[in-house]
Amino acid sequence: MTIQADQETIIVEAFINGQNVKSLSQVAKENPTNPTEIVGYFPVTTKEQAVEAIEAAAGAFKTWKQTPIDERIMMMRKAIEKIRAAENEIVHLLSREHGKPLYDAHGEIYVSLMWMEFACNEAKSALQEEIKEHENGKTILSYDPIGVVAAISPWNYPIALSTIKIAPALLAGNTIVLKPSPYAPLAAAKVAEIIASEFPAGVINVVHGDADVGVELTSNPLVTKIAFTGGTATAKHIIKAASETIKDMTLELGGNDAAIFLESFDVHDERAMRRIVISNFLTAGQICMIAKRVYVHRSIYDEFVEKYIKAANRWIRIGDPFDSNTTVGPVNNLKQKNYVLGLVEDAQKRGAKVIPLGQILDQKLFDQGYYLQPTLVLGCDVHDPIVVEEQFGPTVPILPFDDEEQVINLHNESIYGLTSSVWGKEEDAISVARQLEAGTTMINTAAVQGLDVRFPFGGVKQSGIGREYGVEGIRTYTEKHVINVPKTQDLPYIPE
Ligand code: NAD
Repeated sequence: MTIQADQETIIVEAFINGQNVKSLSQVAKENPTNPTEIVGYFPVTTKEQAVEAIEAAAGAFKTWKQTPIDERIMMMRKAIEKIRAAENEIVHLLSREHGKPLYDAHGEIYVSLMWMEFACNEAKSALQEEIKEHENGKTILSYDPIGVVAAISPWNYPIALSTIKIAPALLAGNTIVLKPSPYAPLAAAKVAEIIASEFPAGVINVVHGDADVGVELTSNPLVTKIAFTGGTATAKHIIKAASETIKDMTLELGGNDAAIFLESFDVHDERAMRRIVISNFLTAGQICMIAKRVYVHRSIYDEFVEKYIKAANRWIRIGDPFDSNTTVGPVNNLKQKNYVLGLVEDAQKRGAKVIPLGQILDQKLFDQGYYLQPTLVLGCDVHDPIVVEEQFGPTVPILPFDDEEQVINLHNESIYGLTSSVWGKEEDAISVARQLEAGTTMINTAAVQGLDVRFPFGGVKQSGIGREYGVEGIRTYTEKHVINVPKTQDLPYIPE
C-alpha cells in the first residue's frame, strides 16, 4: 500500500498478490510547480517482479472468473465508496504530482466515479449471456473473461485512465496488472490500492516503471489483453511486442482534434467562446481530446479572434494549482514543456504571430515551475507542424477556411481521428459532423465538456483501436463465446 512517510512525502511500492513488494531502487517524483520539491517516491519494478505480478494475476484468474457477477459488483461499489471518502486526499496528491489545479483534479475523480458507477450499473446486463432459439435450433452467446489484462496508463489523466480499465476488466471477471506512467504514478497507485483492498489478492496488481516494464507486460504469454492509453508512437512498439502471442488490444492514442466554426456560429455568444477556450486550455492543454486546431469560417474570422482573445484573457489565470483562482497550472514535465515550446518557436520562425493569453497570478512560481504561458498562434500554414502535430500543451493555432468541403478535407487529412467539434446552427453542424472521420464529434462544445461515459469513446485511424466507456467499454474485456446447438447437423451440400 502507499505509505504516508510524513505530511509531504508519499512512498509507493509495487503491489503484487495483495502485498507491497520492496524494490531496490526508488525514483523521486517532483512537483511541477517547484521541481526541487519531492512529492513522493515510486519504485522501478524489475523484470522478475513484473513476471511475479503477471503470474499472481494469472493464478487469481482461476477463481476470480468464477466469482458471481453480483459479488464482483458489490466489491466494486465498496471500492467506489472508499475512493469517495478519500477524495480530498487523492485530489491533493494528484494536484501536487501532476500540476493540475484542484478543481481539475476533482473533475478527474468526478469522471472516474461516474464511469465506475455506470460500469457497476450496466455490468450485469452487458455481460448477461444471450440465448436465441431460431429456425435451426439454439445459440448461446456468452461474454467470457479474457484473462490477465495489462493496463498501461498515461500521465495526463492518471486516475481516470486507470479506472476506465480497472472497473470493466474486473467486473467482467478478468484480473489485472496496472502500470501507471512514471510522470504521474502516485495518485493512480493510491486509487488502485484502495480498489485492491476490496478484492481478493492477485486480482489487481500494480507495477511501476517505463518502457522496460511495459515490454514485459505487453510480451508475456500469460497476458491475454492489453488496455493501453498513450502516444501513437508507443502503441507501435506495443503492437510489435504483442504480435508474438497475438493479444487482444484496446489502444486509446493521440489525437489532433479540430474545432470547426461554421459561418452560422454566433461570435457574440460569450458562453460558447468560454467553452472553446476551456476546450483548448483545460489541464494546460494536456488532454487527448482537447481541441488542438481551430478552423473558423473566413466571414467571421476577425471578429472570432478578437472575441476569443477577450474570453481567453478572462478565463485563463495561470498560477498555483492550490489557489482557487487558478484555472491553468504548469505543464506536467520538462520534456513536454520543451516540446510545446519548440512547436511554438518553430511556428514563429515560419512567420506566425504568437499572442500570449491570460494572466500570470504569481510570477515567481511561474519562473520556478514547468509553466508555459498559453498562446494563440495566428497566420500558420495548414501544414505547419503546430497545426498537424499533437501539441499536448497550452497553445492553439486558429486558421481561416473558405468553404465546408475545404475544412472537411483539412480535418480528414490528419493521420488522427479521436474527437472533433463543429460549432454553429445545429443542423448545419450535424451535417458537417457526419462527414468527419473521428470517434466522437461534439456540437457546440468540445473536449471533456462533451464527453458522455454512457457512449463508446475511442479513435479512428492512428488514434486507436477499440472503444472504452459505454457498454462496449465493458464488453471489450470479454471473449464472445458462441455455443451452437443446430437442429440440422448434416450439411446438404456435403456428399454422403
Ligand atoms: P506514452 O505513450 O509516452 O506513455 C504511456 C504509457 O506507456 C506510460 O505508462 C509509459 O510508461 C508506457 N510505455 C512507454 N513505452 C512503452 C513500451 N515500449 N511498452 C509498453 N508501455 C510503454 O504517453 P504519455 O506521454 O504518457 O501520454 C500522452 C499521450 O497519450 C498523448 O499522445 C495523448 O494523446 C495520449 N492519450 C490518449 C488518450 C485517449 O483516450 N485516446 C487519453 C489520454 C492520453
